[in-house]
Amino acid sequence: MFDLSNKTALITGGNGGIGLGIAEGYLQFGASLIIIGRNEQKNEESRAYLAKKFPESKISFFICDITEVKSVDQMFIEIYKENESIDILVNNAGINIRATEPQELSFEDWSKVISINLSSMHIMSSKVVEKMKKNGSGKIINIGSMLSIFGSTYGSAYAASKGGVVQYTKSCADGWSKDNIQVNAILPGWIVTAMTEKFRITYPERHALIQPRTPAGRWGTPNDLAGTAIFLASEASQFVSGVSIPVDGGYSIR
Ligand code: NDP
Repeated sequence: MFDLSNKTALITGGNGGIGLGIAEGYLQFGASLIIIGRNEQKNEESRAYLAKKFPESKISFFICDITEVKSVDQMFIEIYKENESIDILVNNAGINIRATEPQELSFEDWSKVISINLSSMHIMSSKVVEKMKKNGSGKIINIGSMLSIFGSTYGSAYAASKGGVVQYTKSCADGWSKDNIQVNAILPGWIVTAMTEKFRITYPERHALIQPRTPAGRWGTPNDLAGTAIFLASEASQFVSGVSIPVDGGYSIR
């Protein structure tokens, strides 16, 4: 029921953090992977790491800024030379640009965050959905955040983009469920990655509040996301559509 062998999963931002945690989970369940990032060194490091851990697996890497439509088009020409279709798309890539208060965030930074966190989901989903339809099935998993639920003085664009992820997920699920394509979202809690490392240093007083506020009593790790991502990519979630699942050690229940 959770088997992913003979499936090809594309993970944006799969070269580190949560994306890499999900990549490892998918490889354990037999998937082939296509990993996309912008940073060549990170791509090479994760390539070496995964090749050592999963020597039998087929893993391809692409360097691409997924907000640039022309680059994405070009990348998919290459991808579709090797793959008839993508079975699983994980829209995971994201950034945060913080400011003390919303008005302090420049329009340029606002646009960048919305573009990477939200608009890229539309760009990427639009590139895979027609072939999924032809194939008769597909899974799309969008990565939201606790700020899909809560607001944030520090991360107004981030929260706006992640709130949008929930609504975009429902809209795509509404459109494509009839084609046997399940679109769902995961809302990670506070996870130790490069993204939150900066936050922990810049806002130590907020960092100190997170652990005691989390019922599980700890920060998450990228591997904590893998189980739900496997479920949403597999036959086990065939009748699950348009939901956003918090994976947060209970943070959002308080
Ligand atoms: P990381 O910074 O570790 O990873 C982000 C990834 O996104 C990187 O691999 C990066 O690759 C990729 N990326 C960013 N912009 C682009 C772009 N324009 N084109 C292609 N790839 C891009 O962060 P996390 O692993 O923490 O975050 C992953 C997702 O999880 C994000 O959507 C984030 O918002 C979300 N999230 C994270 C939480 C946390 O606590 N860490 C909590 C809730 C949600 P490269 O560097 O090569 O560009």
